[in-house]
Amino acid sequence: MTARLIDGKAFAAALRERIAGAVATLNRAHGLQPGLAVVLVGEDPASTIYVRSKGEATHAAGMLSVTERLPADTPEAELLALVGRLNRDPRIHGILVQMPLPPQINANAVIAAIDPAKDVDGFHVENAGRLAVGLPAMVPCTPLGCMMMLRDVLGELRGRSALVIGRSNIVGRPMAQLLVAADCTVTVAHSRTRDLPGECRRAEILVAAVGRPELVRGDWIRPGATVIDVGMNRIPGDQPGKTRLVGDVAFAEARAVAGAITPVPGGVGPMTIACLLANTVTAACRQGGIAVPALA
Ligand code: NAD
Repeated sequence: MTARLIDGKAFAAALRERIAGAVATLNRAHGLQPGLAVVLVGEDPASTIYVRSKGEATHAAGMLSVTERLPADTPEAELLALVGRLNRDPRIHGILVQMPLPPQINANAVIAAIDPAKDVDGFHVENAGRLAVGLPAMVPCTPLGCMMMLRDVLGELRGRSALVIGRSNIVGRPMAQLLVAADCTVTVAHSRTRDLPGECRRAEILVAAVGRPELVRGDWIRPGATVIDVGMNRIPGDQPGKTRLVGDVAFAEARAVAGAITPVPGGVGPMTIACLLANTVTAACRQGGIAVPALA
């Protein structure tokens, strides 16, 4: 069996097109242009690339894109003051502070300072709590994108067994909450899990969000399972000095066993930015008292 490839790039492109359509309608019908502010502290090369792509995607969808760049030695109070100004700015409906932050800044304090209504990353405890108790929330972008792909591949998720490997606040935990909300029977595995291969073999849905290159082997996977590989790991490439990107799942082995699988790159990654745009539209509509358009 060769698994169906879940093409995150094509899925994200289609989602971004629907978002651009929704933004044009909001503009026409309500005079509303959703606005996203992205804050970058310092010059970390990976973060700089992420922030640039987020700005370009926001602009391409017809939204207002504001990028705030601060030097690496910015004191926490200065960043908090900027977040406060963005909270009060009526043109801005979504605020994203790019992580990681330099050591003098407490990331939790910054996340706590963002108005939960504008927290398009879904990291604020209010949004995490709302998600946990089943209230409408801003949902973290990466798990939101994974859910969209799972629903597209499997349709109804009710009753399926799901394993999430990883329990971070950014991916693993919210992913598990979303699967529970979709009536899956969910197991969360982590660094202290005793029998990870055994847990994997039971799962109809396997989501790997660990950060360990090719940790999940082909013979751990239940035949026909749907595998979502969130991992993004750089390993040495075939040529000296070159690197390549691999997931948390040994792709070639897994593809021979699974029913459907996301590649790395080109799977979960492109969906994360598209979901950031979707969250910004959702946030803008909620703040404007306008019905949120169906984007998924
Ligand atoms: P994290 O380091 O915060 O969490 C990793 C989790 O994996 C932890 O809960 C830990 O308990 C668990 N873990 C570690 N070793 C393990 C092991 N041997 N067996 C089982 N569990 C183990 O990482 P994160 O922020 O959740 O990110 C996870 C991966 O997803 C990383 O590779 C990251 O780059 C990637 N990521 C990708 C996207 C995307 O858009 N594609 C977005 C966010 C994160």
